[in-house]
Amino acid sequence: MTKAEAKNRIEKLKKEINKYRYAYHVLDKELISPEALDSLKKELFNLEYEFPEFLTPDSPTQRVEGKPLKSFKKVSHERPMISFDDAFSEEDMSSWFSRLENFLGRKVENSGKNFATFYCELKIDGLAIELVYEKGVLVQGSTRGNGTVGEDVTQNLRTIEAIPLNLLPPEEAALNLKKMGVDPRKYNLKPDHLVVRGEAFLTKNEFERINKEQAKKGEKIYANPRNIAAGSIRQLDPKITASRKLDSFQYALFTDLGQEFHEEEHLILKALGFKTNPHNKGVNSLKKVFEFRDYWADHRGEIPYEIDGTVVIINDNELFERAGVAGKAPRGAIAYKFSPKEATTRILDIKVQVGRTGVLTPVAEMEPVVVGGVTISHATLHNEDEVKRLDVRVGDTVIVSRAGDVIPQITSVLKDLRTGNERPFRMPSLCPVDGGRVVKEGALSKCSNANCGAKHKESLYHFVSRAAFDIRGLGPKIIDRFLDEGLISDAADIFELKEGDIEVLQRFGEKSAENLMKEVNEKKKISLPRFLYALGILHIGEETAIVLSHEISNFKFQISKPGDVLRAFSKMSLDDLQNISDIGPIVAKSVHDWFRSEKNIKFLEKLEKSGVEIEKIKPSEKNKKFRGQTFVLTGTLSSMSREEAKDILRAVGGEISESVSSKTSYVVAGDNPGSKLDKAKKLGIKILNEGELKKLIGRK
Ligand SMILES: [Zn+2]
Repeated sequence: MTKAEAKNRIEKLKKEINKYRYAYHVLDKELISPEALDSLKKELFNLEYEFPEFLTPDSPTQRVEGKPLKSFKKVSHERPMISFDDAFSEEDMSSWFSRLENFLGRKVENSGKNFATFYCELKIDGLAIELVYEKGVLVQGSTRGNGTVGEDVTQNLRTIEAIPLNLLPPEEAALNLKKMGVDPRKYNLKPDHLVVRGEAFLTKNEFERINKEQAKKGEKIYANPRNIAAGSIRQLDPKITASRKLDSFQYALFTDLGQEFHEEEHLILKALGFKTNPHNKGVNSLKKVFEFRDYWADHRGEIPYEIDGTVVIINDNELFERAGVAGKAPRGAIAYKFSPKEATTRILDIKVQVGRTGVLTPVAEMEPVVVGGVTISHATLHNEDEVKRLDVRVGDTVIVSRAGDVIPQITSVLKDLRTGNERPFRMPSLCPVDGGRVVKEGALSKCSNANCGAKHKESLYHFVSRAAFDIRGLGPKIIDRFLDEGLISDAADIFELKEGDIEVLQRFGEKSAENLMKEVNEKKKISLPRFLYALGILHIGEETAIVLSHEISNFKFQISKPGDVLRAFSKMSLDDLQNISDIGPIVAKSVHDWFRSEKNIKFLEKLEKSGVEIEKIKPSEKNKKFRGQTFVLTGTLSSMSREEAKDILRAVGGEISESVSSKTSYVVAGDNPGSKLDKAKKLGIKILNEGELKKLIGRK
C-alpha cells in the first residue's frame, strides 16, 4: 500500500467506525455487529501502526490512550457548575414556582412562543461532567469538583463511546436539525470553542456485572451506580475506566450558538452528535410537570439506567438568567425527586445460600419493608468479607436501599441502636446442603464437594417441576437467577419471597413478578403424593409417592400440613415401611432415614411455617373402576399434557408405569410414540389412542 492509499484508507475507516459508533452508542442502533466493528478497528490500528504519521488523537483507536497518571490536574470551570435545589412534593414545587414568579415580578409562561414554559428532564444518577471542544475536537473533560475547580479526567472520558471525540460536520448538523423540524440557519454549528455539560453514568446491567466481579474478588461492593461511575472516572489508569462500560448524556450548552431556550440546547447538542435523552420534554403547566414526574416514578424500572427524579428548568434562557442564583442553586431550575429509595429495617437472620457452583453466599433475611414502592425481605451480603466490612449482625437495624433500582442492598448498620444481643455471623464450616467441608477460594467460601451446587440446583428444579409443586413460570432459568441473586437457600424459601425481591426478573423479560407471586401462592396447596414426590427422597418416584400416600392415609393419620407428614412417617418403623406392598427394603430404608434427618425435619417445619397445605385424599379415589390396571403413556397428547393424563388415570384408580411389561394393562399412544409402542405391540398389549383413552375415562 502506498502512503497516499494508506492515508485515504485510514480516513475512510475513521469515518466508517465513527458512523457505527454514533449509531450504536448515541442512537442505540446496531448497524453492524460489535465483532465486525472490532475488526474494522483492528485494521485501522494496524494501518496507523505502519504509518504513524497519519495517527491523530481523534482516531477511534485512541480512546484508551496514555499512561496511568500520578494525580489529576485541576481545571477551572469557565462558569461554576452548580447543583439544583430538591423538591419532593407538589407543594414543594408550587412554592418554588410562586417564589420564582414573586422574584421576577411577573408571570412565567411561554404561551405564544415556539417552546414550552418548562423543560422536564430525567435526573440521572451519575456524575456531572464538562466537555470542551476546540475547532470541533474534544480537548478537555472534567469533573464538577467543588463547582469552581474540578479535575481533568479527559483521558478517562475519552473512553466513553457515547462521547464524541469530534463534532459532526456543520452540514450534517444542519441536516439533523432539519430532520427534527428546526430551521438550522439560526445557529452557529461550527463553533471554534464549545463547552457542554452532561452526566456520565453506568447502566443497571453494568452495575450488577461490576458488583458481581467485585464480590468474586472480595473487593468493595458499591452501593449504587453513581458510586461506580464516580470511582471509574476518577481512576488514574484509563484502562480501568475503559473496562467499565460507562455511558453519557449531555444536557447543557454553555457556549452561545444562537439558542434562546434550554430546549434548543438539547436540539443543537443532538444535531452536533451528542447523546441526549429522548424522554425529556417541554410542558406548559405545573400540572404537566407533576404528570411527567409521576409517570417516570412508575416507569423508571423500564429504562436501563438509574434515575432518582426529574429536573425542571425554566425553558426561556433569558428568564432563567434573570432569576439568578439563590444561595448555591439557580432559582430557575429545581430537581423534583422521587420518594426516597432507602428505608430502615431489622435483620431477622443471616442465612447461607448455596449457589449453582457450590459457592456459599450469606443472605440477610429482613423484616419486610417497602422501599421505592415494593416490599423486600432479602438482601444478599455477597461474601464473608462484606459481612465483616459492614459488621452486620442478626438483630441489627440497617439501612436498606434498592440500588440499581432493583437489587436490595444493605448500605449501612445503625450501630448506636444495638442492645448487645445482636449475633455476629459466622460462615459455617460445613455446607448446609450436603455437609461437605467449606473451603475458602479467595473471598469466596465453597463447598468442597464438587457436585454440591449442581445437585442442590437440581433438587430445586425438581421441587417446582410439573409432577411436584408444578409452579408454572418458575423454570430452571429463573431458579438459576434466584440462586445467583442469593434469594433462595432452599425450596421453602420460594414461598417466602416478596414481590420486590424478585423484581430483578422483569429486566430479563421473564414472567412479571406479580404473576409469579400469584402462581406461587396458589400452589401452596398440594396433594399428598405430589408433596412426597417433591421432597426428592432417594428412590421415591411418582408411583411410590402414591403408594406411600395411600399407606399413611390408611394408617388413619390426619394429613393436612407438612408437619403431619413428618409425624406419620416418624411413627412408622422400618418394618412398617417394608411391609407395604410394592415397597422394597431399599426404598423403605431411604424413606425411614429421610424423615429422621435433622436437616429434613427443619425443612418440613419451614414448609409448614411458610403456609404449605396438603389436600386430603378422598377415600373414594381408592375404589375406582381402573383399580389395579397399569397404564404406560408414550408420545404427545393434543388435548392434555401427559401429567394431566396421569392425574386423571390415577383419579380413576389406575396406576402409571414408565416401562412396558407383560403386567401393563394399556399403552396410551399419542403423536410420535417411542419404542414403548413397538414393545406393546410385540407383547400384544391393548393400545389406546387419545380418542379411545378419553372415551375410556368418560371424557369428551
Ligand atoms: Zn455442599
